[in-house]
Amino acid sequence: RKFIFVTGGVMSGLGKGITAASTGRLLANAGFDVTAVKIDPYLNVDAGTMNPYQHGEVYVLKDGGEVDLDLGNYERFLGVDMTSDHNVTTGKTYQHVIEKERAGDYLGQTVQIIPHITDDIKRRIREAAVGTDVCIVEVGGTVGDIEGMPYLEALRQFAHEEDDRDILFTHVTLVPYSQNGEQKTKPTQHSVKELRSIGLQPDILVGRCEDELEPKTKEKIALFCDVPTEAVFSNPDVEDVYHVPLVVESEGLDEYVMERLDLASEAKPPAER
Ligand code: ADP
Repeated sequence: RKFIFVTGGVMSGLGKGITAASTGRLLANAGFDVTAVKIDPYLNVDAGTMNPYQHGEVYVLKDGGEVDLDLGNYERFLGVDMTSDHNVTTGKTYQHVIEKERAGDYLGQTVQIIPHITDDIKRRIREAAVGTDVCIVEVGGTVGDIEGMPYLEALRQFAHEEDDRDILFTHVTLVPYSQNGEQKTKPTQHSVKELRSIGLQPDILVGRCEDELEPKTKEKIALFCDVPTEAVFSNPDVEDVYHVPLVVESEGLDEYVMERLDLASEAKPPAER
């Protein structure tokens, strides 16, 4: 089974969820069973009690789960039904670990973020992925947030435990324009530096920009962030977010992901999709 971890840099609301869902859609088009997990690093157990003015729509799943609206994107983009187990929150994870601690399940051990919380995070991701070919895991928030740290550590361990060909890290960042109309890569460089400081090296970088990234912007990102130029993709502003899968497909994101995850030979050729 393959896992694609999607993190975000610079700021939230960039389009990380849409990028993750679009990647999933393209893999589903190639014939794979795709699911998604959304990680929300807040302490609420679920989104049901959250102020809609602050949080946006609360998305209600078929099993009654009240979850982050990103799960709605995943259901619509992937055409699959998800359950509350596909939304991992800090509230759920801690509640479960503390209940186990009270029941004496840890047999007197000191219960800690590493390994007990990180083990529970990894368990939830693996369980949500059962029965599928590819699981897209989106980490909410921005790299560097205190709340997100246990999750990124869990993903680092996860990658360490799995085969290199089964794990892919995609990092979505902002590529702003300067006053003189130049695409600036410094925010991307800084957020990748932040990721690396916690032991994660992205395999793919997606730059959210008003327009498509210019070739020299991609080359610069590739050089500074230590990825091949072919691993840098644009996610430009579009009028309709349902066009994002087509935009990233035109740059070859699906081909690159399948190649990197050794899925290319199992994919249905474009004519049969
Ligand atoms: P994040 O997961 O980074 O918080 P989302 O994927 O939820 O971001 O997207 C944030 C907002 O930006 C949403 O309203 C989404 O519809 C919009 N958006 C995402 N990608 C694009 C794009 N390429 N063009 C225009 N709007 C976009």
